[in-house]
Amino acid sequence: MDNGKLINKDGFDFKFNPDACKECEGNCCIGESGYIWVNPKEIEEIAKFLGIDKNIFIDRFLIKIDYKFSIKEKPYKNGFACIFFNEEKKGCDIYPVRPKQCRTYPFWDRYRDKKYLNELKKECPGVVFNEK
Ligand code: SF4
Repeated sequence: MDNGKLINKDGFDFKFNPDACKECEGNCCIGESGYIWVNPKEIEEIAKFLGIDKNIFIDRFLIKIDYKFSIKEKPYKNGFACIFFNEEKKGCDIYPVRPKQCRTYPFWDRYRDKKYLNELKKECPGVVFNEK
């Protein structure tokens, strides 16, 4: 592995190899049901990318949870997938405008906590634990 490519962030006990995404079948977009939050600016950008009106985009692709919006999911294999997960290409259909939550994976606050690292390692082949 080319260690120069590994991404390192303060407060995390692992590095991330973005090259692993090429071999992975979109594990971070599938699995158990969860929220994929989108903020108002991201909603505008994704609607524009899809070439549809913002309100149509909201109706068709988002669910409202209290005052926030999350991208809808669809059944996939034994669990769920984000509605924008392309099952043939095993990738994201809105990749250039995917929300911050997706762009920042796997550096989520949850994974600052060591107790979730085994779960993360199972999901993401790009995770490389820091040497002790
Ligand atoms: S928006 Fe794209 S990157 Fe984010 S979960 Fe959905 S398919 Fe995956």
